[in-house]
Amino acid sequence: MTLEGGCYCGALRYRIEGPMPRGGLCYCRACQHASGGGPNAFALVAPDSFTWTKGTASQFARPDLPAPVIREFCPDCGTQVTTLRPGQTKRIVKIGTLDRAQDWPGPGFAIFTAEKAPWHALPPDLPAFEGLPPSR
Ligand SMILES: [Zn+2]
Ligand SMILES: [Zn+2]
Repeated sequence: MTLEGGCYCGALRYRIEGPMPRGGLCYCRACQHASGGGPNAFALVAPDSFTWTKGTASQFARPDLPAPVIREFCPDCGTQVTTLRPGQTKRIVKIGTLDRAQDWPGPGFAIFTAEKAPWHALPPDLPAFEGLPPSR
């Protein structure tokens, strides 16, 4: 299986190869900032399955947090494409940056639901966690 994607302007491109990556929906406040207000749909991609094919991502990590995630984004259009989390070997890829988001089978779980807004609707029957899942 091969999935391709990139940022809004096309300066940053990537390819995912291997098994279809699983992932979920994140309702944390940081993802609400990055997504525009809704949950962030993401896939967890093994390091050797992910390749940047065009451009160089800029990185940002909040200096005021003890163990911040690293957000990787396009230096031209600002679209965040991936996140690297300390302790998580897999790259977190934003589903909205896939060329064909419809090819992804959908979220398998929801996380950080304690931070969701009252008007966010959780998909029915989706396993949901108030923070990170207990076993990763
Ligand atoms: Zn761009
Ligand atoms: Zn989040």
